[in-house]
Amino acid sequence: MRFNESEADFSVEDYYMNEKLGFQIDLTSRCNLKCPFCVYNKEKSIYRSGRQLDFDTVKNILNQISNLKPKWLIEHIWYVGTGETLLHKNLPEIIMETAKKIGSFIGVVTNGTLLTKKMSEKLIKADVTEIDMSYVGSYS
Ligand code: SF4
Repeated sequence: MRFNESEADFSVEDYYMNEKLGFQIDLTSRCNLKCPFCVYNKEKSIYRSGRQLDFDTVKNILNQISNLKPKWLIEHIWYVGTGETLLHKNLPEIIMETAKKIGSFIGVVTNGTLLTKKMSEKLIKADVTEIDMSYVGSYS
């Protein structure tokens, strides 16, 4: 789906007859692990650019998602990555902004290595709904 203000107002029928919408936002392509099976670690992988979305860009995306109508159509936002989501320094603020603007289910996918008690508390306080961890990734 393209994010275009003029396309933000649509009816349920426009989207798969009552199916809800979910979004995956890829925050960063940086990772602190190098799992041998990871497609993103292939030599010259286009995914390992080391880039990440800045906070303003994420806010802009969230604004556009929040303009979609009806509101209940938005079922979930998952923060995933071609890298490690917790490496994004603004993650707690991003979760908070998502809860404030969208109010849907908010998920975070992580390899778990940076999920300290302090970070967990920040994410919970920000209103994260679910944190998914990959244990396979954590031993490489
Ligand atoms: S933790 Fe995930 S993104 Fe990072 S190298 Fe392993 S599989 Fe790839």
